[in-house]
Amino acid sequence: MQGLIFNIQKYSIHDGPGIRTTVFLKGCPLSCIWCHNPESQSMQCELMHFSNHCIGCEECVKVCRVGALKSTGGIINRNTKLCTMCGSCSTICCTNAIELAGRIVSAMELLHDLEKDVIFYDSSKGGITISGGEPLAQCEFTLELLQLCKKKEIHTAVDTSGYGSTSCLEKISQYTDLFLYDIKLIDKERHEQHTGVSNEIILQNLRLLSSLCKRIWIRIPIIPGINDDEENIAATASLIRSINGIEQVNLLPFHNTASEKYARLNKDYRLKHLKIPDEEHINKTAALYREQSINVLIGG
Ligand code: SF4
Ligand code: SF4
Repeated sequence: MQGLIFNIQKYSIHDGPGIRTTVFLKGCPLSCIWCHNPESQSMQCELMHFSNHCIGCEECVKVCRVGALKSTGGIINRNTKLCTMCGSCSTICCTNAIELAGRIVSAMELLHDLEKDVIFYDSSKGGITISGGEPLAQCEFTLELLQLCKKKEIHTAVDTSGYGSTSCLEKISQYTDLFLYDIKLIDKERHEQHTGVSNEIILQNLRLLSSLCKRIWIRIPIIPGINDDEENIAATASLIRSINGIEQVNLLPFHNTASEKYARLNKDYRLKHLKIPDEEHINKTAALYREQSINVLIGG
């Protein structure tokens, strides 16, 4: 089974316990306005171009077999109708002015790569984490990768928005040791407004994992002016308290590092001027959860 990924992060210490390798799958049914990985959203490969890095060597133009690239006055333009996403221009570009986001890999090929770091997983009680994008959006690939890892006795975590088919979640839960589960907003309309989808299936799937006695860590992004009001915090805390199996809650403060990626993809970043929340605000938010006897950590 093949899947589309956009990154593999080795030696990660923020995506579950211990030292982990995080595999980022490409493609997500949500479109959160604060998304810091805009290249994760599309289910297709994408070419990211950052003209400020370009030195005008035209090596990319020469290597493109279909003539999709033209240099006009030192500016590289791509004809998207001709481009086959072969990635040759990205490989040859010595300044990283062109980057191909997206790579098709088989689950077996990926396993061979993940296995190389078993010594680190074992010594730190770590493992692998499948993130995204949305792992549920590539259900069969996610399932096969998890099954292969479990055969090798590698600890598995899945980082999910929870937006996906319940039957898929049920299947993958059999091979998942820990779920990192995102809760963004409790009010259905506000959730839809800021992520593009309703949260009904997300909350339903969270309850399903709880009923299956799965280990769950909740992840909450803190986005100023969007989900950091006391009403949403109280509703989120109330939800968390009503669900068994939630071991901890990680608050993930908004950061503004994605601007360059949006520019590279020619996408509009609506939060580019949003200020990052200060320490006092984050601590106050954490305190509101702790008042409800919830085990809260700041950061992922
Ligand atoms: S290879 Fe890279 S640096 Fe050279 S012209 Fe193309 S984009 Fe610019
Ligand atoms: S990805 Fe391939 S086809 Fe597309 S512009 Fe680059 S070299 Fe040409």
